[in-house]
Amino acid sequence: MTRQGPNVGDHAFDGAFVARWIREAAVSIHEQRDYLTQLDAAIGDADHGVNMDRGFGRAVERLDAAAGPGSLLEAVGTALVLSVGGAAGPLYGSSLREMGRALGDAATFDGEGLLRILRVALDEVRRLGAASVGDKTMVDALAPAIDGLERGLRAGEPLVTSLGRATGAAQEGAASTVPLQARRGRASYLGSRSVGHLDPGAASSALLIEALERAASEAS
Ligand code: ADP
Ligand code: MG
Repeated sequence: MTRQGPNVGDHAFDGAFVARWIREAAVSIHEQRDYLTQLDAAIGDADHGVNMDRGFGRAVERLDAAAGPGSLLEAVGTALVLSVGGAAGPLYGSSLREMGRALGDAATFDGEGLLRILRVALDEVRRLGAASVGDKTMVDALAPAIDGLERGLRAGEPLVTSLGRATGAAQEGAASTVPLQARRGRASYLGSRSVGHLDPGAASSALLIEALERAASEAS
């Protein structure tokens, strides 16, 4: 097998990796459930933590040890669409489903493949929600996270290091939503009263990226 660069082939992500990601995410969301709900209480309807916890609980139940990464992501996405609810359910659920569709029946993928499917996910969030960076949504965490991953990979860093960058960028991106006025979703109904609060979806997105980093470090 020819190696095309320092990051190609140093990780082979498979179904077990996707399952680890979803389990890590479910644990973290469960731990942060009340925090996410408090964030949503300030500028929304106080359901984000409860919704995400319920949805990821259902998603974990759908993890099939024999499935490939693409079909697992599709199954998890469908579970999220059916059980999270609110705005975040369709946004996260369809995104994961599209990630799975993009992988098709590939048995494994590498760092470049991960970058590619994360871009597919972000495109789906944007397609459904029409939010740009600065609108105070999950896009404010996801877009810089993916850019961070790409920068790391282009610089030839190990994938886990690049994912560490992605986590840092997602957390900074989430924090950057505090002074913003919401232009999408329920929080936008508050107008200038949405200023001064962290966006709950940006916070949950940072948890999902951090879970991805943890799942990848366990794979190395
Ligand atoms: P709801 O607002 O319907 O109660 P949730 O509380 O589950 O839904 O999720 C709210 C989060 O969803 C927001 O914090 C924001 O990050 C995200 N969100 C809402 N609308 C959009 C949108 N149009 N595009 C991207 N993200 C959005
Ligand atoms: Mg809500």
